[in-house]
Amino acid sequence: MKVAIFGTKSYDKEFFKLEGVSTNHELVFFESRLRVKTAPLAKGFDAVCVFVNDVVDAETIKIIADFGVKVIALRCAGFNNVDLEEAEKHGIVILRVPAYSPYAVAEHTLALILTLNRKTHKAYNRVREGNFSLDRLTGFDIHGKTVGIIGTGKIGQIFANIMTGLGCKVVGFDLYPNKELEKNGTLKYVSLNELLDQSDIISLHCPLTPQTHHIINDHTIWRMKKGAMLINTSRGRLIDTEAAIRALSKGHLGYLGIDVYEQEEKLFFRDLSETLIRDEKMMNLMAFPNVLVTGHQAFFTDTALTQIARVTLGNLTAYENGEELVNRVGTEAIKA
Ligand code: NAD
Repeated sequence: MKVAIFGTKSYDKEFFKLEGVSTNHELVFFESRLRVKTAPLAKGFDAVCVFVNDVVDAETIKIIADFGVKVIALRCAGFNNVDLEEAEKHGIVILRVPAYSPYAVAEHTLALILTLNRKTHKAYNRVREGNFSLDRLTGFDIHGKTVGIIGTGKIGQIFANIMTGLGCKVVGFDLYPNKELEKNGTLKYVSLNELLDQSDIISLHCPLTPQTHHIINDHTIWRMKKGAMLINTSRGRLIDTEAAIRALSKGHLGYLGIDVYEQEEKLFFRDLSETLIRDEKMMNLMAFPNVLVTGHQAFFTDTALTQIARVTLGNLTAYENGEELVNRVGTEAIKA
């Protein structure tokens, strides 16, 4: 198939080219993200391939459907940026990579926790300047703490096991509890309120849906223990950033570690080091010493990049050959 790969970076090209050798697909790489303005680039292609911050809304879909695009291949798990109903209306098939390396995301979640807690980022800079003082580097023992996991799917489960390994008590909240996890002692399911009440560290691993949009808001943050640590490696809009800033300012929220951000579309995956960043909420966040932001890199391991390219191209091959589409996303996903 002729595939237009949008929003490509050097690493996408590298891994897609490597995996593409063993397929018949013709891959054309565009640096621009797919959105209304760039949709004309899709003319003449059978499929478009997009990532988390491409804007595949109704208008974009109408344009690419007119060009005869038949497939949207997401090279990510989340599909909140795609108007599934509009795609269905035009008979466009949506394919995704349901899991590329859940370990990568779970391990990055731990990295955020350890960095925020033991301040290794500050220690690194201090020592390089010959400052061996320990002032203000105090952390806490993670052993024995209660960790609350919202969303106990593939990533949440792995993260639960990591934290159990560190000697934590793990509680979970999920719309669809996995009884197996309770049976094998990985975690104990509680209500969302109980999780907020009990946890020293709360980590978000649920998808972004209308139900989970701003699941962390003024109400839920103030229900957390004073000084709790909140981590989000899932999707930015799970947290009402302004509510988080208010709770940080008042000293109620102890730490915030985020790999995703509500308005990340304007910032992430770009080098803006020579520009003035006009995102007030992000500037506010960065002013707090107890906030750590990474730019949506939780997935970013060589294992995950290989898997993303392999599964995306495999999805396209399956479509082309009329095989069963095991990674298809339909409107039933939003209805569910
Ligand atoms: P998954 O589908 O395996 O698990 C998600 C879990 O959330 C499921 O158990 C589901 O029942 C639960 N859930 C759904 N709605 C809920 C709600 N309202 N309240 C509580 N739980 C709810 O997904 P996964 O592979 O574990 O990925 C989780 C999320 O991680 C993805 O949706 C994606 O947004 C994010 N992600 C981020 C990165 C990154 O680089 N930062 C990479 C991959 C995935």
